[in-house]
Amino acid sequence: MTLRLYALTCGWLTLPEAALIEGGRSTPLRIPVPAYLIVHPKGTALFDSGLASICTAPSPARDAYLGELGAQVRVERADDDGIERRLETLDVDVARIDYVINSHLHFDHAGGNARASGARLVVQRREWEAAHDPDGIAAMAYKPVDYDQGHDRLLVDGEHDVFGDGSVTCIPTYGHTPGHQSLRVKSATGEIVLCGDACYLRETLETLRLPPGAAWDRAAMEEALRRLRAYQERGARIFFGHDPGFWDTLPKAPHALA
Ligand SMILES: [Zn+2]
Repeated sequence: MTLRLYALTCGWLTLPEAALIEGGRSTPLRIPVPAYLIVHPKGTALFDSGLASICTAPSPARDAYLGELGAQVRVERADDDGIERRLETLDVDVARIDYVINSHLHFDHAGGNARASGARLVVQRREWEAAHDPDGIAAMAYKPVDYDQGHDRLLVDGEHDVFGDGSVTCIPTYGHTPGHQSLRVKSATGEIVLCGDACYLRETLETLRLPPGAAWDRAAMEEALRRLRAYQERGARIFFGHDPGFWDTLPKAPHALA
């Protein structure tokens, strides 16, 4: 059985390094917004969907959408950074994607969900609930317009085997948000764990230095990082959520990673 995995660049965010790692500098760091496509014999899946198209050009609507985030983070999304455009380079129609597996529902991970109109969302139940809790929406980077698009949904609790053959598995990595999940992919070239925001940077995994404010539950996030380390120790390749140096080293679509 063959499975293919592709890395897609869906934009860039710029924010102080100190917002990404404890003890970081106040100087700005420009970080990628990744998404991934998995082509499996039983269907296609996205792991995260990038930024909403409203982020492309400055406008009052964009300002209203970003709200307070607009003052904290510089958001770059070129036309080519749209999930639909990235998939076009692979001759994949975004409207025909079977599953969108969201690591969590923050704006830089679920912004392209609307484009995948035929997909079933695969989200942790507790993430879905957090993203509909008015207090959570106010405190975190949730934009309900991104994910309240009437998709068919599969709300899962803990591990979930997406295609039923153990090749693509959601693994709970709660902490950054109440229901964050990472994705374990078993390919012909070995095991890969797509972290999402469970681990922003390579240095995060090495040092466990979490920035203030990056975690809904710091202890849970540290525990998740230790589990990611255990995957790494047994030979899995860890794909960090927003590491610009790591991202530079990855071949992007149309080149397959596995
Ligand atoms: Zn996040």
